[in-house]
Amino acid sequence: MRLRSRLLVAGLACAGIVSASVEPDRRQVHIVRAANTTLTVEVVGTDDPARVAMLQRWAEEAARATLPPSGRFPLGTAHVRIREIDSRDDSPVPWGQTSRDDAVSVLLYVRRDATDEELRADWTAVHEFSHLAHPHLGDRGRWLAEGLASYHQNLLRARAGLLAPDEAWRRLDAGFRRGEAAGPGPALDAIGRRRDGTMRVYWAGAAYWLEMDLALRRDHGTTLPEVLDRHARCCLDGTARVMPEDFVAALDRAAGIDLFARRYRDYAGITTFPSLDQSYRALGIAREGDAIVLSVSPETRALREALTAPLRPAARR
Ligand SMILES: [Zn+2]
Repeated sequence: MRLRSRLLVAGLACAGIVSASVEPDRRQVHIVRAANTTLTVEVVGTDDPARVAMLQRWAEEAARATLPPSGRFPLGTAHVRIREIDSRDDSPVPWGQTSRDDAVSVLLYVRRDATDEELRADWTAVHEFSHLAHPHLGDRGRWLAEGLASYHQNLLRARAGLLAPDEAWRRLDAGFRRGEAAGPGPALDAIGRRRDGTMRVYWAGAAYWLEMDLALRRDHGTTLPEVLDRHARCCLDGTARVMPEDFVAALDRAAGIDLFARRYRDYAGITTFPSLDQSYRALGIAREGDAIVLSVSPETRALREALTAPLRPAARR
């Protein structure tokens, strides 16, 4: 299955252990600015100016979809490299990864014949750019890192108008189902890079971040994007290796609350898939067979819409 195989590929690639080579003679660089932060977007593997411009536009749109409420990227600078490749993969972006060697860079392999429409409908770039909001968390924190990117890959696209909100919820649920279908295994923080644990790493991790986002909105008058933003502005070092316990403790400090670290301890040790019952009740999501039904009650609808609504300019501070 396309999505499953792509997730496995992305799961192996996403923690930043590989550096890509560069073809200096074929670089095409575009700078994306957001307040005092920048992303340099480089295209490698094609000289066609129209194609280069389209790929740069696509990357910029995906990167801007992940902009925090402050309107600044989480890191002061990061590098994006788009490499065109010949591939028979169904996906327009057969491979994506974020590397954290001396600097943070996002690498996206794009199928040479991928269309603008196919690329804008794909989740990989938003997933990879979402990784810029956390530090290098190592194998024990892989579920936190991949969970955050997986949680955001659909909801942020809905927020940016790249995906219909109902479809974002359907895809998030489909991901959770893949995680559940993987069955029990080692504790989340002990799975590391085991391939048979990939689905649980991605989607149990996403369940953690969904639970955090809902708890922040319900009990603390803030949101996950706001807390990640605050943390990025005070404390994020994109290349430093940070223990997962220290990252969640830093999020608690940034928000002035006791939430992330407490639930981290529960999630890190689980050997099954976490219950979605409480989150789904709050969101008004019910499963019927392979589908989901979204409640029309005003309260649950307002919460769902808050998670997929565009950021208001007033919220950008
Ligand atoms: Zn990833």
